Amino acid sequence: MSQMRLGVFGGMFDPVHHGHLRPALEVAEQARLDHVRLLPCAIPPHRDIPSATAEQRRDMLELAVADYDMFSVDSQELERSGTSYTIDTLESLRAELPEAMLVLMLGEDAFAGLHRWHRWQEIFSLAQVVIMRRPGGTEEFDAAIDQELSARRCPIADLPGKDRGAIAMAEVTPLQISSTLIRHVVGRGEDPGFLVPEPVARYLREKRIY
Ligand code: ATP
Repeated sequence: MSQMRLGVFGGMFDPVHHGHLRPALEVAEQARLDHVRLLPCAIPPHRDIPSATAEQRRDMLELAVADYDMFSVDSQELERSGTSYTIDTLESLRAELPEAMLVLMLGEDAFAGLHRWHRWQEIFSLAQVVIMRRPGGTEEFDAAIDQELSARRCPIADLPGKDRGAIAMAEVTPLQISSTLIRHVVGRGEDPGFLVPEPVARYLREKRIY
């Protein structure tokens, strides 16, 4: 059997929206992934913006992808105590699935801050990376990031034949949707329908989060 290709997509998902899901599905198709795991991260306790609980963020993710076998929700970062570092998650996935090719999926804004992440350069020894274009994103990255990108970049269609450490940029349908926007919409008492999957919109209407 050929090597399993697993997409690893982490975020706050506070809440999950179509700007997460549609690009993720397109990346899965472009990079020929077998499966994508969505990993909600633990949020530092004193964030001063309205926030759903870890359980609510996980529940909304579960509702969002219930009909998609391609996706599943992995709550390991919520179960681990302390800050969630992507490198720890990749190491734990590597231990769980020694043969799999891990493909870390990052929005352009997340990738632009990669050089501030804990042990960030070690990510390239564990996983491939796909950057999802995001409206308002920039291709001007910090010099350290740029250096990695120029050395490692390949077309996304070639990713399945490449080793760990390869980086691809994915052109995905640009969707100017953010969790911040959804929290504002819900906070104003408006309907978040068509910005998030309908089961998530229903959950938000019922629970009155944000
Ligand atoms: P917030 O508005 O609260 O900052 P967010 O919408 O950016 O949240 P996150 O959960 O922080 O959502 O993002 C998780 C990941 O999804 C990040 O890698 C981010 O870049 C990516 N992402 C989020 N929204 C989009 C989008 N509209 N298009 C492409 N990538 C996105």
